[in-house]
Amino acid sequence: MTGWVKDRVALVTGAGSGIGKAAALKLAANGARVCLVDLTEQRAGEVKELIEAQGGEAIVVDTDVSDPVRVQSAVELAMKEWGRLDVVFANAGINGVVTPIEDMSPEEWDHTLTTNLKGTFLAVKYAIPHMKKNGGSIIITSSINGNRSFSGFGMSAYSTSKAGQMAFGKMAALELARYRIRVNIICPGAIQTNISENTQKTPELHKIEIPVKYPEGSQPLEHKPGSPDQVADLVLFLASDHSSHITGSEIYIDGAESLL
Ligand code: NAD
Repeated sequence: MTGWVKDRVALVTGAGSGIGKAAALKLAANGARVCLVDLTEQRAGEVKELIEAQGGEAIVVDTDVSDPVRVQSAVELAMKEWGRLDVVFANAGINGVVTPIEDMSPEEWDHTLTTNLKGTFLAVKYAIPHMKKNGGSIIITSSINGNRSFSGFGMSAYSTSKAGQMAFGKMAALELARYRIRVNIICPGAIQTNISENTQKTPELHKIEIPVKYPEGSQPLEHKPGSPDQVADLVLFLASDHSSHITGSEIYIDGAESLL
């Protein structure tokens, strides 16, 4: 197999759906062997079949990204299978419960923060010892919501986790530059995926009057949400040597949605 990431090994979290799935397929189509991490084997197993059908190699690890033991063993499995790790796409994430702050339970807050932010930390932490020798590329999926909300109110936990990912990614870029490990943060706008399946909007949300609301997913460029495949193109670029001087960057992929 030829391509921009030929013979590299990539670990992708949230690989069973949406952006993670599209990125896993694109990395594999460009020569990478891919460790597919997701909550259950079923969806990631389907992605593995697609990769194998196009002549690529993949393994599936069912792992909750907020569980340190499971994340470490996912990394170890990739190492055992292929003996190296070059790319980590820390992408798994949930919207969680969308509700006013006063109505959000501490458990709901924790669940969103633990999945999105701690999950990112764990994937990076356990990958570092294996990436130090050869260098590599870490890509973190944050969101335009890390800076401001375009989804109305109720996204405080989600937006906090996404802002945390931006800060974490920049600190990691500084810390890991000495090993030639690059770390970049991608910030998608609305993308057509299955994320609404894990979004719970509470009735309390309607208590708040939203002063300005743009139509959901409105984007000056295409007037519709982006596709996972468009995001996967960016992931491939950042995973490859074509982005060799880019690290510590927040890269918006939103058709200018964040400028509205
Ligand atoms: P998606 O729901 O289609 O895919 C997310 C995948 O992550 C699913 O397969 C799910 O099973 C997995 N996942 C969820 N929790 C997990 C956990 N604890 N452990 C392991 N896997 C877990 O959603 P998506 O839109 O592709 O989301 C991917 C990332 O993109 C998320 O971090 C999300 O915040 C971010 N994002 C999405 C949008 C959008 O509009 N879709 C916009 C900005 C950022």
